[in-house]
Amino acid sequence: MSQSVEEQKTLSVPPYLCAQFVNQLIIQITGGGEPIMKVMKFGGTSVGRPERMHHIVSLVTRQEEPTIVVLSALSGTTNALVEIGENIARGDRDAARKTIEKLEAHYQQFISELVTKPASVDKAKAVVAEHFEFLNIILKISFSEALSKDILAQGELLSTRLFCVYLEEQGVGHALLPALEFMSIDAYDEPQIGSIKVKLSQLLQQRKEVKLFVTQGYICRNSRGEVDNLKRGGSDYSASLIAAALNASVCEIWTDIDGMHNNDPRVVKKTVPVEQLSFDEAAELAYFGAKILHPASIWPAQQYKVPVRLLNTMQPEAKGTLIAEKADGVGVKAVAAKDNIIAIRIKSSRMLLAYGFLRKIFEVFEKYRTPIDMITTSEVAVSITIDNPQYLKEILKELEPFGSTEVDHNQTIISVVGNEIAQTSDIIKKLFGSIMNIPVRMVSYGGSPHNISLLISAEHKTQILQQLNKGMFGLE
Ligand code: ADP
Ligand code: ASP
Ligand code: MG
Repeated sequence: MSQSVEEQKTLSVPPYLCAQFVNQLIIQITGGGEPIMKVMKFGGTSVGRPERMHHIVSLVTRQEEPTIVVLSALSGTTNALVEIGENIARGDRDAARKTIEKLEAHYQQFISELVTKPASVDKAKAVVAEHFEFLNIILKISFSEALSKDILAQGELLSTRLFCVYLEEQGVGHALLPALEFMSIDAYDEPQIGSIKVKLSQLLQQRKEVKLFVTQGYICRNSRGEVDNLKRGGSDYSASLIAAALNASVCEIWTDIDGMHNNDPRVVKKTVPVEQLSFDEAAELAYFGAKILHPASIWPAQQYKVPVRLLNTMQPEAKGTLIAEKADGVGVKAVAAKDNIIAIRIKSSRMLLAYGFLRKIFEVFEKYRTPIDMITTSEVAVSITIDNPQYLKEILKELEPFGSTEVDHNQTIISVVGNEIAQTSDIIKKLFGSIMNIPVRMVSYGGSPHNISLLISAEHKTQILQQLNKGMFGLE
């Protein structure tokens, strides 16, 4: 079935359509019988140097199944783009210009080592020129939120186009799938999986002969049709959404470490990779601060039962971590820390024997679309944590009628994750035994069988992670 480009662009599937209907629609559009695909996502450090991009080509061309390669921006690029946007927003165009110049010089150097054939060099230079011309034009126009998202998108647009220039130089057949043509979020910034499924299937259907596709992670269109993104680290989320949309055989997340480690390697010296995690365990770790995965990146794969593998680009033979419905291994598997948490305590004598009190409090958070991470209650008080300070003032104002409030900033959630850990008394003893000298503000236990969370003041984070490493894993 053929459709004009215009028709494809306007085809949007309302979120309320059920999965069965969407699948039926896809079969009608594509004729069904699509091959099983594999998704391979490479993060910033995996593409951050020319020799790493060369190496990735050797990894992706080994595949037998048709593959979609999802790329992040080169490491450091998104940070630089954030800086450019912030400088423009603040009216400091000179500072923005300097960062643009520095970034452009970095890309000139990068392409000089990426490609060698004159035709490829010309193409790579043209790609770099086009994107930096865009950034220089932006310098001259008035700032808007939408414009800042356009700036942020340049990193992934550059990395994928340059990767394709190199693939072409190597004579590797491929096609670039523009993420802005299929990846979308709704008015609440939630990905529209039904629409992504339909649009992606259509795009693939047009290129049936192609076995290797390349697309951008992180970037998407929002409900106004503007360029937007899936938040920092969002390329993992893109990969999982694509894998879910295509019912892929596997979603591989290639990064700079050999899988999910038992503790944060940026904080603790001796950490070891975890071989297997269930979707639930991985989701808890990602949400509660294990930076290797974007916080929301597990649910699409989990919902569509696509196994996720975390692998090391620099050490491809290492086992990494397999994330699937069921996972071997019992007991505690890993701990993670989530920073910048705000704790709010609401004290009220009216809570005593009252019903409906918690509902009213939750409604305030719901009104300001601020998710609650932890909650503990007593007869006279309730403590809640949030990580989004955007509407804190408004929330506190609306909580006033319910009692007095106390706010603690700069808190950290420490999550201990594993299989059935909340039922094992030995684990509880070990956990509290190893952190007895550290003051704990809140404890969340029993909410899920595989997570115990503690709220502590951020100043104790390093110490607690180190002590847990010794106490729970016997690692020093
Ligand atoms: P990429 O650029 O490939 O997306 P990230 O920097 O986002 O890579 O994620 C990989 C990094 O996550 C690692 O280098 C490591 O420092 C950090 N990290 C934090 N917690 C963990 C953990 N529990 N296991 C593995 N890596 C972790
Ligand atoms: N480039 C984006 C970032 O640095 C997305 C990603 O790398 O996943 O946040
Ligand atoms: Mg990342």
